[in-house]
Amino acid sequence: MAYQAPVNDIMQVLKSAAGLDELLSNGTLEGVEEDTIRAVLEEAGKFGAEVLDPLYITGDRTGSKLVDGKVVTPAGWKDAYKQFADGGWGALAASEEWGGQDLPQVVATAAGEIWNSANLAFGLCPLLTFGAIDAIEAQGSDALKKTYLPKMVTGEWTGTMNLTEPHAGSDLGQLKSRAEPQGDGTYRLFGTKIFITYGDHEMTDNIIHLVLARLPDAPPGTRGISLFLVPKYLVNKDGSIGARNDVVCAGVEHKLGIHASPTCVMKYGEKDGAIGYLVGEENRGLNVMFIMMNAARLAVGTQGVSVAERATQQATAYAKERKQGRTASSKAGEMGPIIEHADIRRTLMTMRALTQAARAICLVTARETDVARRAKDPAQRAHAANRVALLTPIAKAFSTDIGCEVASMGVQVHGGMGFIEETGAAQIYRDARILPIYEGTNGIQAMDLVGRKLPLEGGKVVAGYIGELQKTVEEVRASNRPEFGRMGEKLGEAVAALAEASRWLGGALQKNPDAAMAGATPYLRLFGLASGGVYLARGALAAARNGGQAEPIAVARFFAENIASAAGGLKDTVIGGAESTLMLSPDALSA
Ligand SMILES: Cc1cc2nc3c(=O)[nH]c(=O)nc-3n(C[C@H](O)[C@H](O)[C@H](O)COP(=O)(O)OP(=O)(O)OC[C@H]3O[C@@H](n4cnc5c(N)ncnc54)[C@H](O)[C@@H]3O)c2cc1C
Repeated sequence: MAYQAPVNDIMQVLKSAAGLDELLSNGTLEGVEEDTIRAVLEEAGKFGAEVLDPLYITGDRTGSKLVDGKVVTPAGWKDAYKQFADGGWGALAASEEWGGQDLPQVVATAAGEIWNSANLAFGLCPLLTFGAIDAIEAQGSDALKKTYLPKMVTGEWTGTMNLTEPHAGSDLGQLKSRAEPQGDGTYRLFGTKIFITYGDHEMTDNIIHLVLARLPDAPPGTRGISLFLVPKYLVNKDGSIGARNDVVCAGVEHKLGIHASPTCVMKYGEKDGAIGYLVGEENRGLNVMFIMMNAARLAVGTQGVSVAERATQQATAYAKERKQGRTASSKAGEMGPIIEHADIRRTLMTMRALTQAARAICLVTARETDVARRAKDPAQRAHAANRVALLTPIAKAFSTDIGCEVASMGVQVHGGMGFIEETGAAQIYRDARILPIYEGTNGIQAMDLVGRKLPLEGGKVVAGYIGELQKTVEEVRASNRPEFGRMGEKLGEAVAALAEASRWLGGALQKNPDAAMAGATPYLRLFGLASGGVYLARGALAAARNGGQAEPIAVARFFAENIASAAGGLKDTVIGGAESTLMLSPDALSA
């Protein structure tokens, strides 16, 4: 299968669910034209299809390896990265001040979907660099910005994120890496970080690590963590590359998927200490890292869309070719293509609908990021910032969960050939599995949604959001279009279920936090189903207004009638399932 970027689908979601026309006409995206967005996405699609996609399977088979202390990426990787940087792709959303193109986040998110569909293991490298750029731009000193941002924006240098340690994964408060002030404004870092994506490689002549560590007098827990910029090579005053810093890659993990992405054990300070520079304030490193993590969480959610899209394209192509069994249109004595069987059609519709719903959630989150950064009215910016906060865990967890589910369905459509590596369906499934784990596991996302986002502004943020979903449901109902079937009714039930579960959780959080957290994961799913269903319905309404294209209407109706219809059960699980979830004590569970 050759991957093809779904530019028309993306543009349709941008215009219907993400309200692109409004952003272009009200000046939020001043200086940007719809045609420019389409042209950028078409070029991103060409790059994905022509440069990245051909390396998808070969990169998986070779993998990245540690050879004589250096990470060697698969054949073709270095050249593809050079083409990526030369094409200016690293500069897409970065600010003009540092050499970027200052394009909106919706464009960067959509382009990210495309590159990660074409090659997930490759796409991770720029994904992390973009996050590092955001963090340095937001909190770095002027000197750090001037020295590092221009080269990171051009893609000459890549960035990494160093949080995880062997005993500190989800609980970063446990991290032990230490940083000793040198009295000259620099620090020396000591410690081991694990699972560091693209921690080392030979594609660029420098790598800029952002590292969490503790100062000698730091308070324990998350309040004692600072963030440091640690370059692989020190940079001389004139900007040229200087001495090698005291940071090495001590190992590359063997793993289930994304074999071409080097997942590194990084050792800081094996000799005199790795020289680092403070980013932001002492002991406030986690706050800075959150800037990077929120952007990265949306980007990882988008990777869920990427794998789902790739799996759907691959399964659809296979289902058109593979012949088994007779169908209504089969000639006597002949088998028909499996795409004609109702059960395969259901699977392909489910794959398509989940992919499009997750894409809409990610692009709406990106849209709110643009409004939060660019709107002229401060109240509008604040409102959008709350929306970003609310939607980020859903974008991350819902999209990556469905990424795995859709990839699994893709294997199923291939039958036995799906289990054989040759077709590539198995690789998509293996690659997808990391997405619910890194960038904050999906369990942690669900707890964030319930514990931090639901109480935002006393529950007003979520209530306002649900109110908007309800308005779209009313529009669907009022449209009275026979081709919409039971879309209005089913989405109405889903949004009502979301409202009821939200109210219940709001109360439970005060009285019995364990019961609230026991329902966090089904609640996040319910949130994703209600939101995704409504966003697809906005696409159906737009399609109906524009002459009634069949596809967006069919997908939205299918989602409402076949997928969002699970909302009532999820609400019951949230409200009535906590007691039995917690019935067996941890001791009984471990017996
Ligand atoms: C391929 C790969 C690439 C990675 N890239 C990077 C990278 O570039 N930089 C980096 O810093 N890290 C990276 N990571 C690390 C990744 O972010 C962590 O694996 C992840 O945050 C989970 O931490 P953990 O593995 O220690 O799992 P744990 O924290 O041990 O979690 C195990 C399970 O317990 C659950 N859990 C943990 N705490 C709680 C809680 N309080 N309440 C409820 N449930 C809980 C989790 O949801 C999970 O299901 C990468 C990991 C992999 C595998």
